[in-house]
Amino acid sequence: MAQLSVQDKLGILADAAKYDASCASSGTVKRNSAGGKGIGSTEGMGICHAYAPDGRCISLLKILLTNSCIFDCHYCINRKSSNVRRARFTAKEVVDLTLSFYRRNYIEGLFLSSGIIGSSDYTMEQIVEVARALREDHDFRGYIHLKTIPDADPALVEAAGRHADRVSINVELPTERGLKRLAPEKSQPRIEGAMGAMHRAIEDGGDARRRYRSAPRFAPAGQSTQMIVGADSATDGDIVLRASQLYGRFGLRRVYYSAFSPIPEASAVLPLQRPPLMREHRLYQSDWLMRFYGYRPDEVAEAADPATGMLPLDIDPKLAWALKFRDRFPVDVNRAPREMLLRVPGLGVKAVNAILSTRRWRQLRIADIARLTVSVNKVRPFLIAADWRPVMLSDQADLRRFVSPRAEQLELFAA
Ligand code: SF4
Repeated sequence: MAQLSVQDKLGILADAAKYDASCASSGTVKRNSAGGKGIGSTEGMGICHAYAPDGRCISLLKILLTNSCIFDCHYCINRKSSNVRRARFTAKEVVDLTLSFYRRNYIEGLFLSSGIIGSSDYTMEQIVEVARALREDHDFRGYIHLKTIPDADPALVEAAGRHADRVSINVELPTERGLKRLAPEKSQPRIEGAMGAMHRAIEDGGDARRRYRSAPRFAPAGQSTQMIVGADSATDGDIVLRASQLYGRFGLRRVYYSAFSPIPEASAVLPLQRPPLMREHRLYQSDWLMRFYGYRPDEVAEAADPATGMLPLDIDPKLAWALKFRDRFPVDVNRAPREMLLRVPGLGVKAVNAILSTRRWRQLRIADIARLTVSVNKVRPFLIAADWRPVMLSDQADLRRFVSPRAEQLELFAA
């Protein structure tokens, strides 16, 4: 490998990391350097989680330790057979970069992943060494998210959990069939075994902290994973089902969905075009429905087109579900239970909480609902208020057109 400056390496390895979507720094513990102890903080002013227009988090130093890899996953730009410029940081270089970026207030933390060099254990040792040195040698208290390697020695994965706020193991593809075809060196049972072990370690760490305040923290922001969408033939229904299994079995904080991006000199087994970014967005909305709105995965899957298994792109999955199950509507905002109110398109969790607390004192009218939602037109056909009852609206054949967001002509030269 040619001798590269740290700046050259940074250019290559930050660019190589952009394909990883799983880097939101939410949900960790409060930790700071107030009182002159240590450096960094996970809280307070100055910590913000910025997202680029394509949804990726940009507030962390997000890099790979190396983009060299002994594996040959078809969808990955860093695969062994890819003809990209390679670079590799030493653990010390990553530590120095993180500290200097932090001191300049460029970042709030570090997101570190890596291609596999030498062996899974050797790579994991290097990743852990970065986090160890930041925490133990420099008393770094900022956020650290480490990608862990499923095949690595469990003791190393455990060490990652002791130093990091969040750890993640990518399931990569929604189906085992897809994984076998596109990442033949990876194995779903091994990935799930590692996620299960991490889940148990996080739970044990939480139990120990509840019993003894002095017990060390273990991955307080939990574990997450990422699925690539659109590289194989998995439908949205398959993806929703897989995500719900992962949440249930491994207590994941987040499943990230990353629309497959065609890469230079892509393998012939990959599709030529990336899926619409809107597909990724609809999957995030489905995820939200399962986590905060009480939908079962099979209910979300019912919003998909039965012929293709795909969620509609022009309307959100909650509206698609409501249009399909019109017999459940209209819902009376002054009487209906919380779980039915949450099913009304256009009513979010905050709006439903406001309805529940207000209706204890008085009857809600349609004008009250209009103040709680972005589009009262979207809500009207699905609810009854003190002065509003939709007349035959929910039976209307063209209801979908009536409640769908209007298509907008995009400006060719808009900024
Ligand atoms: S193991 Fe990771 S870095 Fe290596 S080719 Fe597969 S996805 Fe890419």
